[in-house]
Amino acid sequence: MSKKLVQIGMDDIDNPDGRCTTHFASIIVERLKEWTVEWVDYPNLIRLNPNIPYRTRGNGAVALRFLIDHYDVDSIIPTVEGLIHDYVEGEYPNTNPGVVLFDDEVPKQVQSLSRLALWRVVPIELARRIIRTNNIPHYTSGNGRGLIGALSAVANTLHEDHTYEYIAYRALEDCEDKRGVDTVSVQSMDKTMGNRVFSNVDISTNRIMIEPHGKDPVLFGVRGEAAEYVIEAANLVKSKQDRDRWMVFRSNQGTGEHLKHRVEIRNLRPYMTAIVAGRVESKPRMIEGGHSIFTIKDDKDKIDCAAYEPSGEFRNIVMKLKVGDLVNVHAGVRPASRRHSLTLNLEGLEVVELANISEVSNPICAQCGKRMKSAGRGKGYKCTKCGHRDKDVRKIETSLVRDLLTGLHLPPAKAQRHLTRPLARIGKVNGGMPSSLVSKWHSH
Ligand SMILES: [Zn+2]
Repeated sequence: MSKKLVQIGMDDIDNPDGRCTTHFASIIVERLKEWTVEWVDYPNLIRLNPNIPYRTRGNGAVALRFLIDHYDVDSIIPTVEGLIHDYVEGEYPNTNPGVVLFDDEVPKQVQSLSRLALWRVVPIELARRIIRTNNIPHYTSGNGRGLIGALSAVANTLHEDHTYEYIAYRALEDCEDKRGVDTVSVQSMDKTMGNRVFSNVDISTNRIMIEPHGKDPVLFGVRGEAAEYVIEAANLVKSKQDRDRWMVFRSNQGTGEHLKHRVEIRNLRPYMTAIVAGRVESKPRMIEGGHSIFTIKDDKDKIDCAAYEPSGEFRNIVMKLKVGDLVNVHAGVRPASRRHSLTLNLEGLEVVELANISEVSNPICAQCGKRMKSAGRGKGYKCTKCGHRDKDVRKIETSLVRDLLTGLHLPPAKAQRHLTRPLARIGKVNGGMPSSLVSKWHSH
């Protein structure tokens, strides 16, 4: 029997009671076991533009890639549709599921939509038009927004760089209760695994970051550089609640894939994610609520930049900027409101060049060492302590020693986006598709 490569993308399969798309994907993977499928990739967890307002902070979609018997292809979408109805249990204004299927090459139009969705706002109508013109088998309900993520996930093969996440799920009936992930076990796992894993513990506070706090079925998620590593790491984690199921995802988390575009200030649009180069134009100031704000300017235009209170000690770095410093701001664009104009919401700050700042002060008295005072215009300086006068001395200019380093500065791990490339991953690249999968990458 000839097998066919099938790729499915899915997004926005959740409900306010805490269902989520990755959990649903693990249910599909389990269901597909009843058919004869051969997996060619781990399920992909694709994070999209984190600055889209109507999405949760995660903004993650899922893609599945497998070989399946020719004659089974047509029954996949109806099967998935049935599973979605059982899973979501009803209609919710903010749940707009989308599923797409490809059993052939992914069209160029879908690939460019996928790249766009990492850093721009993609209109639903564009996704619908692409589906229509390319006759893409799909399922959608609500306003169809899930189609954007579904298309984007399928077309992203993560060929430049990828990471892994082991996600453990609890039973749906346990979702009201505390997870009870054991902090000490996570800290010791992090030590044991070293740089094979990342962003599981915030090094500045030693707080664990693998445990979500909502009512969703995710018990914990461990991020790392290979499937083997995240599985090994997850098995070192202890929790009060049991793992009902688990699955390993290949992902663009921690790759910085959303921050590839340098945009001039005049071309910035609301909700875009971009790198903006400019010189610091105004001294940073701390405003009410603990946010620090400064302005940058490129050749033609100015824009405000903000590091918000949750970014913690990162704001102290921002406060050290001086007028004239050259920076690349990594940011999401916040739309203008009545209270502020278009603003860059800082996700990272690359200090390219420090301005040479000098302080000018009066000369020191040659007799007694005290700082002198001006004796009046053209009359030089006099010492108020010993009375020494000097007509020829001049003001002293000293270069200010800056306590800010050039290079990339990021907020603490707990305030980073899923997509942000953490400092621990600078220079790390996992390229290409995996040549083979580990023998056991999910629980069922
Ligand atoms: Zn003196």
